[in-house]
Amino acid sequence: LFMPERVNSKGFDLTDRPTLAQIAHDREPLRTKTWQAAPLVVGRKGGSSDARPVLNPANPGDIVGQVEATTDTDVSTAFAAAKTWDAPVSDRAAILNTVADLYEENAAEIFAILTREAGKCMPDAVAELREAVDFLRYYAAQAKKNDPRPRGTWVCISPWNFPLAIFSGQIAAALAAGNAVLAKPAEQTPIIAHFAVSLMHKAGVPKAAIQLLPGDGAVGAALTGNAQVTGVAFTGSTATARKINSSMAKHCAPGTPLIAETGGLNAMIVDSTALPEAAVRDIVNGAFRSAGQRCSALRCLYVQEDVADKLMDMLTGAMDALTVGDPWALSTDVGPVIDDLAHKGIADHIAKAQADGRVIHALKSPATGHYIAPTVIKVNSIKELEREIFGPVLHVATFKSSKLNQVIADINSTGYGLTFGLHTRIDDRVEYIVNAVNAGNIYVNRDQIGAIVGSQPFGGEGLSGTGPKAGGPNYLPRFGKSSVTPTLT
Ligand code: GLU
Repeated sequence: LFMPERVNSKGFDLTDRPTLAQIAHDREPLRTKTWQAAPLVVGRKGGSSDARPVLNPANPGDIVGQVEATTDTDVSTAFAAAKTWDAPVSDRAAILNTVADLYEENAAEIFAILTREAGKCMPDAVAELREAVDFLRYYAAQAKKNDPRPRGTWVCISPWNFPLAIFSGQIAAALAAGNAVLAKPAEQTPIIAHFAVSLMHKAGVPKAAIQLLPGDGAVGAALTGNAQVTGVAFTGSTATARKINSSMAKHCAPGTPLIAETGGLNAMIVDSTALPEAAVRDIVNGAFRSAGQRCSALRCLYVQEDVADKLMDMLTGAMDALTVGDPWALSTDVGPVIDDLAHKGIADHIAKAQADGRVIHALKSPATGHYIAPTVIKVNSIKELEREIFGPVLHVATFKSSKLNQVIADINSTGYGLTFGLHTRIDDRVEYIVNAVNAGNIYVNRDQIGAIVGSQPFGGEGLSGTGPKAGGPNYLPRFGKSSVTPTLT
């Protein structure tokens, strides 16, 4: 197993008052700054006239910056200019480590962008920077040991919920293997992506090795439907992964790898032996942290009937202590969801449950901004969830201990298999359930979010993704040549 000599980033201790005061001080001048984002394509001529404002999800009146859209010409110019990074692997690794250093040096600006563009609360922004830095250093260290050979040109398509960490992780692995990268960040978060790629260029990554193509799904489709593509790394919805898969089957050489990390319908089982305080803490974290906008987030809690009343009392009490509001405020626990469309989809789901009398508890949302306040909905089974609700909405079912096998069967029947949580103090039950549930990441007696690079490789099975897991030893080799035998099946 690959164990690089590395140290995970220390991050920032937010329980330390001087640290917090320093962050707040450094970030303050950036409260009203506006940034510009545009395609970073070698040989691109002039700016496109099609620039649109990027708005703060917490306050749509706050313009965070402007982004120029990628045109079809930009896409073909980028493919023509893309060039593998033929520096020796030790140089590539050193430069990727410099990128990590530059991220840390620019922490205040990164926090400001993550909060204003993506609605991240401070603890989430800190964790995200840390994960981005960890990915860069981890793949750099691994490349030095394995010396992978490039495949060619990789397309990396990343989501808005980890607009720095996942964006940087995909790119770092592709670059560590010496590939050329065409990166398309999520439509909602081009500014942090532009900022990150600018730091990569500053650190010494050649401009022909990393090009940025901000835009919507049409840009993604143009990129993944190109015959020059030698691999695609995608994190986003299962539906989009399917589209990319069929487009690649049509346009790319047979066997061209697709690494897809997609959705989840993640469950947690809490039995009657669980420590209720610990379970409640982990439920609140798993379901409501990042406003539930993680593919790892807890969506459906199964509580053993005998302890359900007590646990639900404690849970609703803990929820009442959460602060929902502007993520710029250091005391905020739950910020907005990403945009109007996301808001509408989640609000419709809650409204339906409300009409059926199934909403057990709900906090209040601030009046302006795309807020969904944490909400708990009663269900009989996870099977009632028709889709992944990507927001701070927890579904709760109760079970009798004699029906445990049925609960496990229902969880597996969703077809997803990303994260799973278990709270119990019975060792045999841990072993039994952990073996029976299909999930890529299983957490016992803790929360089910926040996988740590190098320690907890992250990724799912079934509808949740293709693997290999990000932040683990098998991820980087997939970006290199000859790690996979192409097949025609
Ligand atoms: N790696 C993240 C976690 O463990 C989730 C990634 C995602 O939401 O795409 O919480």
